Amino acid sequence: MSRLILKVAIDAPLRHLFDYLPLFNVPPPAVGCRVRVPFGRRSRVGLVVAHAPHAEVADAQLRHIHEAIDAEPLLTAPLLDLLHRAADYYHAPPGEVVVGTLPALLRTGRPAQLAPPFEWRLTNTAPAPDSVGRAPRQAALLRALAAGPRTEDDLDAELEGWRVTARTLASKGWVERAERAPEPAPTGAPPAAPTLSAAQQAAVDAITGASGFHAFLLDGVTGSGKTEVYLAAIESALAAGRLALVLVPEIGLAPQTEARFRARFGAAVAVLHSGLTDGERLAAWLAARDGRVGVLIGTRSAVFAPLPRLGLIVVDEEHDTSYKQQDGFRYHARDMAVLRARLESVPVLLGSATPSLESLAHAASGQYRPLHLHERAGSARLPQLHLLDVRHQRMTGLVSPALAAVMRDELAAGRQVMLFLNRRGYAPVLLCHACGWVPKCTRCDAHFTLHRARRLLVCHHCGSERPAPTACGQCQSAELLPLGVGTERIEADLATLFPDHAVLRVDRDSTRRRGALDAHLAAARDGRADILIGTQMLAKGHHFPAVTLVGILDADQGLFAADFRATERLGQTIHQVAGRCGRGEQAGRVLIQTHQPQHPLWQALLHGGYGVFARGLLAEREAAGWPPYSHLALLRAEAAGAQEALWFLGETLSLAAEFGHAGVELLGPVPAPSPKRAGRYRAQLLLQAHRRAPLHNLLRRWLPALAHLPAARQVRWSLDVDPVDTY
Ligand code: ADP
Ligand code: ZN
Ligand code: ZN
Repeated sequence: MSRLILKVAIDAPLRHLFDYLPLFNVPPPAVGCRVRVPFGRRSRVGLVVAHAPHAEVADAQLRHIHEAIDAEPLLTAPLLDLLHRAADYYHAPPGEVVVGTLPALLRTGRPAQLAPPFEWRLTNTAPAPDSVGRAPRQAALLRALAAGPRTEDDLDAELEGWRVTARTLASKGWVERAERAPEPAPTGAPPAAPTLSAAQQAAVDAITGASGFHAFLLDGVTGSGKTEVYLAAIESALAAGRLALVLVPEIGLAPQTEARFRARFGAAVAVLHSGLTDGERLAAWLAARDGRVGVLIGTRSAVFAPLPRLGLIVVDEEHDTSYKQQDGFRYHARDMAVLRARLESVPVLLGSATPSLESLAHAASGQYRPLHLHERAGSARLPQLHLLDVRHQRMTGLVSPALAAVMRDELAAGRQVMLFLNRRGYAPVLLCHACGWVPKCTRCDAHFTLHRARRLLVCHHCGSERPAPTACGQCQSAELLPLGVGTERIEADLATLFPDHAVLRVDRDSTRRRGALDAHLAAARDGRADILIGTQMLAKGHHFPAVTLVGILDADQGLFAADFRATERLGQTIHQVAGRCGRGEQAGRVLIQTHQPQHPLWQALLHGGYGVFARGLLAEREAAGWPPYSHLALLRAEAAGAQEALWFLGETLSLAAEFGHAGVELLGPVPAPSPKRAGRYRAQLLLQAHRRAPLHNLLRRWLPALAHLPAARQVRWSLDVDPVDTY
């Protein structure tokens, strides 16, 4: 008897699909539809990825689905194909990929339709909030609505349990629920696009002239007008009735990018990032799927968003490591963007002032077509980079007298200064002057960082916090010394050095509140701050026209890191930070404080620019056999005991030897660089191969067997293909 088996992907850490029977007497759900299925003793939401004539399991174990959720496929065939290939390439459980990349509300089985947005508002008979003083919840809701109507999503975010209160108030006739009027269309003509330079126009022509799949690497210095190239290429896609997907690294960058795209394309722009509420995410995802969006701008996971009639994919700041998902399904969004473009036969445009070595190697080998913008747009010039030898200098914190003097001149001329230090907090170590005691996070075996303003010790490895002590935990002495310097301490030093100038700190601590980053960036842009001090966060993509001086306070740490990618990152960071200055009328200068002025890396970076520097690094990578000239996979394991992770990895090594691993070197197992984190001991095994095929062949046979190893029950393990952090 022929029958139909549904192959269902379920978000579970199991490397296979699950077989179910359809319901009786109704047509079976199509491929791409969600179903609710019995799973163990509970029920789960899964997605049908195939129909098959046979089951993998015995008849007695086959169960019927509980319910078909979607009448129409949620995912289109090309997108399902992309997800399949992604799961295959990253050796990830198919359910984690197919279901795990859906918006949260779809994963829980919510219908794939937009509920019309409802809002609540006051009626004419509503009393003043204070007059219901004895009913604080009612007063709170009345007060919230007194400021204007609120959508149910807003209220969910603002007032816990508001629905019950709203019903009470509605029964008194004080508030009412109504469908929300659509936003008024923006008025006024969109700003005119600038006339493109010859180099910009050549890049646009190359992209718009391409038919089918082509990968372009737009290698353009900071401020060279890459974004204008994206906008022009997208305009041409939209004119042809196609949609565009734009990936950006982080939400911090998105507001500015979003504003520029909205200015050009108006209501056709939608955004998708992790700063949205679940409801907003679902709305954006559905709008994209239904083709009601012209340009979808999103972070990492947007690469898996459904878009009919896709015409172009743009990956801005393609070198940025935040494109790599670091837990769960560990994919690289840039690589997935290229794969997706190939599967959908559309061009993909990767842009950066500091391209990754991977992409430069692809450009050199002809896989990507390089496009160059060598000069800044308009009248802006590229900044000059200088080293400041700080040996023997009397420093104020991390600021040398030479840097302070240049800062003083710039500030006196009414210009802005930006200082960069990639270490947040006040001081990375607190030390007892009387007995040497140092407070440590016992879960990580790591020093606590002192965050003085918040009066906390924070572990930067696991995030745990505790009140900062006022006395030594060992000898009760009150003489506790903060050692080392973080951004918070620099902020305090600057207040002493430059008492007449406003200092603004931008890091993860100072931008904790929703909206704080936007507010800080606005203050920086419109000149309410004279000196900006920040971490990586301040380095990325921002446009501050009045900044003419950038000081890099402590660059040397990047020279000594153990990770083989550390120098690449250092070079990228310095160029990106440098790129923030001299974007207006005035030329910019970058001062790099170092104790190692003779280091060859500085010479390459200062004299040749990023291109020469990157070519040098590529030669080193090739000689040492590191990526992009080899391929890596990292098997990580962690356990409650000190040895189990190493034992487990030892067993995996023996298993690989049994299978045979010609063409793949296995390095390790070794304890991880931070061997203990959040109370668990970590170890790793690195797999390296010159060609991808032997590596993936081994992984395909080896991974399914790992769960059956004797030590597997005591460890949690994960595989990272093309790891970005190997340390
Ligand atoms: P990038 O993305 O490479 O950093 P942007 O596209 O942000 O560069 O451009 C930097 C600045 O130069 C922006 O203010 C932009 O409006 C301006 N700009 C870009 N292209 C041109 C052009 N062809 N003519 C005049 N100004 C331009
Ligand atoms: Zn002490
Ligand atoms: Zn910790």
